[in-house]
Amino acid sequence: MSEGLPARSSSGLNHGPMESLRVLGWKLREAMRSAWNRYDRTPLYCKALAGESDYNICVNSDMTVSCNCQDFDGTGRIGDLRSQTLGEIFSGETVRVFQKSLASREFPTSVCATCPELAPIPAGDLARGPVLGRVPSRGIMVENTALCNLKCGLCRRKELLALRRQPSLSLEDIEQVSRMLAEYGIKQVSYFNLGEPFLSADILAEVRLLRRHNPGIRIITSTNGLLLDNEEKIEAALLMDHVYFSIDGVSQDTLARYQVGGDFDRQYRNMKTLVEQRSARTAQALTTHLTLIEWKYVFFSWNDHLDHMKQALQLAHGSGVDRLTFHPGSVTEKADLSKRSLADPFFQSAGARLLDGGMSIDLTAYSSADVQLESL
Ligand code: SF4
Ligand code: SF4
Repeated sequence: MSEGLPARSSSGLNHGPMESLRVLGWKLREAMRSAWNRYDRTPLYCKALAGESDYNICVNSDMTVSCNCQDFDGTGRIGDLRSQTLGEIFSGETVRVFQKSLASREFPTSVCATCPELAPIPAGDLARGPVLGRVPSRGIMVENTALCNLKCGLCRRKELLALRRQPSLSLEDIEQVSRMLAEYGIKQVSYFNLGEPFLSADILAEVRLLRRHNPGIRIITSTNGLLLDNEEKIEAALLMDHVYFSIDGVSQDTLARYQVGGDFDRQYRNMKTLVEQRSARTAQALTTHLTLIEWKYVFFSWNDHLDHMKQALQLAHGSGVDRLTFHPGSVTEKADLSKRSLADPFFQSAGARLLDGGMSIDLTAYSSADVQLESL
């Protein structure tokens, strides 16, 4: 469910042509990289492998570890927690080879070319050679499941499940991961990756385990919201610090073109209910913990009309969520790409600010119950 962070792509389940397009994209990027390399030889390094990132390094559903959140083909695998500690992975051969390749401007994975973790080695550090690996103490991702209830376009489930030894982490695995987070003093866990976290029937037990071993850790999740519809799941969500709801439309038609199998009314209702439950618990002084609830809206050519954006803002306000963030979707078909840029006047009028690659509107800043749509 890391869709939109960065966002994924358009609808369609036909992986054959999709795969060809992906390979074509990879070849194109490689050709561009080689051309660019003839002129620029600045050594590179990976910020995630150097422990400078709070995202991307991911414990997968089978306890392997990948360097990025889009590792559908396994080229980003850097280790395995079944046979190694996290410390051993980051001081190990694979991480060393990855950093050495990047220093020579060779890309060790199919994702590096477009990865935000790629950076030039600072001039003052060049004499030290390739950058060393370091445990990501700022934050890590944990994929409790690689299964999903939806079938969004470029989520390559078949390829992914053929790669994973098991589709979901067991409670024993999560206990091990929770202890590991505590041992390395990891400050943040993004509890999602390439599946739907609330598909797990044990989600409440999982989050309680994380919290028991790491009372102060920041827990973030991202969900399509469709299954967040019972007491246990609501309880699990409200034990976390930040819940993103991926709802990519304002009606069934606008949503289901990308989120194949989605149900706009249910997803929206579940998001609204979570806000109500949060308010009820705070009012009854059952908790002082406040979970940030955010609607993440990935826009394409079919759900980016000004009326859609205004309606999303109105619905977001009506649901009581804290934030609404619009992210441009990445697509395989040029026609599916939105022409709306992040500098669009709509975002400025709505008081949006740039956040994590999207335009984010802080709804707590609206004092009136009515969003002044006419002025937008
Ligand atoms: S198929 Fe599931 S995991 Fe993939 S983008 Fe859609 S909701 Fe997220
Ligand atoms: S894809 Fe490349 S740049 Fe991105 S995290 Fe992995 S090694 Fe680093």
